[in-house]
Amino acid sequence: MAIATTNPTTGETLKTFTPATAAEIEQAIDRAAEAYGHYRHSEFSWRSQLMNRAADILDTNKKQYAQLMTLEMGKPIKSAIAEVEKCAWVCRYYAEHAEQFLADEVIETDASKSYVSYQPLGIVLAVMPWNFPFWQVFRFAAPTLMAGNVGLLKHASNVPQCALAIAEVFNEAGFPEAVFQTLLIGASQVAEVIEDDRVMAATLTGSEHAGASLAANAGKLIKKTLLELGGSDPYIVMPSAKLDDAVDVAVTARLLNNGQSCIAAKRFILDQEIAKNFTNKLLAKFKDLKIGDPMNENTNIGPLATPQILDDLDKQVSISINKGAKALIGGEKMGDRPGNFYPPTILTDIPFGSPAYGEELFGPVATVFVVENMHEAIALANSSEFGLGASAWTNDPIEQKHFIQDLQAGTVFINGMVKSDPRLPFGGIKKSGYGRELGKHGIHEFVNIKTVWLK
Ligand code: NDP
Repeated sequence: MAIATTNPTTGETLKTFTPATAAEIEQAIDRAAEAYGHYRHSEFSWRSQLMNRAADILDTNKKQYAQLMTLEMGKPIKSAIAEVEKCAWVCRYYAEHAEQFLADEVIETDASKSYVSYQPLGIVLAVMPWNFPFWQVFRFAAPTLMAGNVGLLKHASNVPQCALAIAEVFNEAGFPEAVFQTLLIGASQVAEVIEDDRVMAATLTGSEHAGASLAANAGKLIKKTLLELGGSDPYIVMPSAKLDDAVDVAVTARLLNNGQSCIAAKRFILDQEIAKNFTNKLLAKFKDLKIGDPMNENTNIGPLATPQILDDLDKQVSISINKGAKALIGGEKMGDRPGNFYPPTILTDIPFGSPAYGEELFGPVATVFVVENMHEAIALANSSEFGLGASAWTNDPIEQKHFIQDLQAGTVFINGMVKSDPRLPFGGIKKSGYGRELGKHGIHEFVNIKTVWLK
């Protein structure tokens, strides 16, 4: 994919960028290695000051950054502003807590003193996606830089201006030169970076294919990776749930970011007792949504990020319909306008083996499944190859216990929508990836957990 800003609302390419050459990549790694030599010895209090300053810069310029995201990948402007605010939050969170999370831990042994010391690793590469162009990067950068590492960002090729703006935030905040750098490179150049001896680890958020490729390259060189990949999160509703609340939240849980979120609720698994009622209410809400220019504050659904995402989704839905699924609303591309628009869609009667049954649908398409009881709901939820998040709606304590215990996912939310929060660890199992971001666990991913023993 060319490195370029192409407005998904109009299809117009506004700016193109030349990928960095091998020599430029080498220079960037040189600079990062040199920066690490000094930065790793810096005090937490100083790093905190810089990280808080980054948060202030984000808050001050939030409209400008939000417009950039909306321009490059089409998310509704209101959620783009909220995304920048969340980035400021994660910066402040780690500015406040990193020192305590990484404090030495004394463990009594036969030594006169033995303890665990958390030390930085060095240069960490981040390969990031376009769906939350600021958030995905800041949730990597805030803990990683606070731990004393330095970061290299390879952002998705369709959000280059966001990538450059993020590097500028850290620069303006006063982080030493090259502690955080953006490399404008294509996917095929990632291997070159990971193969450099000075690059110690890598994190990737994106598709299974990209994750497997990065992890294979890193694995050959015994380098640590963290993968945050796709999801096909279940959203289970049982008869004891507050139905109107479950419906209201379902709309946001499925359609946030035009449906392009790894933790979006994608499979609505409904107990037969409430299935019809829930589906009718959801349909009424989908009918009310405003599709249009994402720069307009009243728009609920903007375009998908790229023509490829649109084509992939369209194919998945049309094959599923050909195999017998029914669209209660939507189900076809919107041919009447430019840009990558796809309408909010609800599919029912989805046959086993169709794309809508087993694959991740990265767009505004809700799939509905009806089950006879909790056990069937859990079995269907767990039949996915993914295991990122799961949301279950029930006020029955026994059912709650079963969902918490038995759902195969990195996160379970009861009576709420799965969302990331700087204070809570975030990540998946199965093909959704491994490792954890955020919280105390997140900052421990890219450190050397060093055992120290003294007599
Ligand atoms: P990709 O996984 O292709 O892109 C994510 C990032 O990985 C980008 O920076 C991309 O670079 C890079 N990349 C792609 N291939 C490789 C590779 N072989 N080695 C190293 N880096 C690579 O996602 P897409 O944009 O193509 O979206 C495809 C699907 O991925 C979606 O439909 C969705 O299912 C899933 N996805 C999941 C996300 C999540 O949040 N978990 C986010 C985005 C996508 P470049 O842009 O230059 O190709």
